[in-house]
Amino acid sequence: MRSWCLKGLTSSAYLGALSALVLLLLLASGCRSLDATQVKTASEFTFVNEQLAPEPASLITASAQKVKLAQDYLAVTANPYATAAATKILVEGGSAIDAAIAAQMVLGLVEPQSSGLGGGGFLLFWDAKSQQLSSYDGRETAPLGADESLFLNAGDGQPMGFVEALIGGRSVGVPGMVHMLGRAHNNHGVMEWPLLFDEAIELAENGFIVSERLSTLIKKVPALQARPQIARYLYPDGQGLLQGSLLKNKDYALSLKALAAGGPKVFYFGDIVDAMVAVVVDDSNPGQLSVRDFSQYQSVMRTPVCKLIFAYRFCGMGPPSSGATTVLSILAMLESLGIESHHNPSLVGTGVAGDAVLAHAFIEASRLAFADRNKYVADPDFVGVPVAGLLATDYLSQRASMIDLARRNELMPSGSPSAVDTDDFMTGLSLELPSTTHLTIMDATGNIVSMTNSIETAFGSRLMSGGFILNNQLTDFSFAPMDVSGQKIANRVQGGKRPLSSMSPMIVFDAQNQPVLAVGSPGGRSIISYVARVLYEVLVLGQSLPQSVAASHVVEAGNKVRVESAASKDTVKTLGDMGHELDVREQTSGIHAIYKTSLGWQGVADPRREGAAAGQ
Ligand code: GLU
Repeated sequence: MRSWCLKGLTSSAYLGALSALVLLLLLASGCRSLDATQVKTASEFTFVNEQLAPEPASLITASAQKVKLAQDYLAVTANPYATAAATKILVEGGSAIDAAIAAQMVLGLVEPQSSGLGGGGFLLFWDAKSQQLSSYDGRETAPLGADESLFLNAGDGQPMGFVEALIGGRSVGVPGMVHMLGRAHNNHGVMEWPLLFDEAIELAENGFIVSERLSTLIKKVPALQARPQIARYLYPDGQGLLQGSLLKNKDYALSLKALAAGGPKVFYFGDIVDAMVAVVVDDSNPGQLSVRDFSQYQSVMRTPVCKLIFAYRFCGMGPPSSGATTVLSILAMLESLGIESHHNPSLVGTGVAGDAVLAHAFIEASRLAFADRNKYVADPDFVGVPVAGLLATDYLSQRASMIDLARRNELMPSGSPSAVDTDDFMTGLSLELPSTTHLTIMDATGNIVSMTNSIETAFGSRLMSGGFILNNQLTDFSFAPMDVSGQKIANRVQGGKRPLSSMSPMIVFDAQNQPVLAVGSPGGRSIISYVARVLYEVLVLGQSLPQSVAASHVVEAGNKVRVESAASKDTVKTLGDMGHELDVREQTSGIHAIYKTSLGWQGVADPRREGAAAGQ
């Protein structure tokens, strides 16, 4: 046992990424002497995180429209080109899903580092006419031929290093986004499918202007020349693309034309599939994707996960996303604590990061919610995730009672929710690096889309096919199939399984069951903290949406708490006195939200990225 711990920790950057939770687990299981080598591996995590997902936000001068008040329709996406594509469709009478598809096709071109045809995601759709909320799961699946040895070294059976796992075909799951969008369009589309691709095809053929964010990421993200196709695209003539250059993508235009003409099935049968499979299996770090994996892929309509908290009904995406269960747990624990009554009235308007008591409660509730999330949430088609038990009000009140409002608890263990019908629940960890994109769109009839899509880390697996980048979503599985006691981890790799996600598209309803707020963000596991904070500040503390989105994040990050430099000095000091280890650094959230105010609907794009809000 002991040698497993030490070997695992010292042999791979991936295990270097284990958070305090697992370090505590390892300590508890006999790995007691953390030597200098192990400390080095912990810093390797920071290295891996910063190198693969650098945070260029401070370099970005936001020029796009960030806040828009509208009466009829609104679109908030991660890029002005995509927002324009969405509003064009809305003006022409398209539904929110039509606009979301048009915007997403553009995002795959202008923000290729974050999402695209080669990735997957989750979508919530509010149908204003039928008053129904639907949720769509377009998460990637592991190849049917994959098993729990996927990310283990052949020689010693230990988890491989993260970069080794990431780059190449091994990390690529079956992309689910196109299937999900096709299904949602069937159910909620108004415009003809082919018309939704015009804007993206036009931009791909005639070129778009490379943004500051894209060019910065091309400079900073490593291994972008690790494979010839991506090198040719992003480093033409050996030079990384510069901001302001005109970039065309003829291959992407061809893929879009095929998809427009043939419908979503061309992405799961035929030439486009053959090309993706060849790129993955012929790679020097090959994956096991097959034509059959594509033909069998199905997006899934799942029951949205909702809970009444603070007199609102908060709804989100259930497993395999941990978004809804974790965000709702945090909010329900805060409600149970009645913590807003502890809020210093002289600090009203400052939000969580401006009030140490609130920030502390938020962090401790987050730690409890994450402990359960890491243990119990995985693909529900493989594991009996106890969603109702995890969200039961009594259970969460009892969990919240563990919070000491004066100081940080040393340990925040997972709980024992009711209705656990499998013993497949051992805490696992996966390294979710921040890339991803979130868009929120409302059409003139009041339908709303809240959708998060991702190719996982920035520029995914580095493999390109058909002008788009293939995801590395399989690295969201736990590399280790078993925990230190030899029991199976719920989020281990299995053929056909979807990896655990943190993506948290949400829509919130008032007492009349009418939508009041829709939100989501990129950010890996930090998404959960970003979204929960904004929901709490806007709906419970009464902050304005623009103020809350721009305010300092407070992020539960294992043994540390991340806050931004805008956090109040008093908060930072008091949190330190309470026993929290603070890591002050800027975050690259991309919160794109809409909120119903007394003056109309307000759309807000996160000032940390290049997104834009537009509407009428
Ligand atoms: N792969 C991550 C997840 O599914 C998303 C990464 C990100 O948000 O940047 O939660």
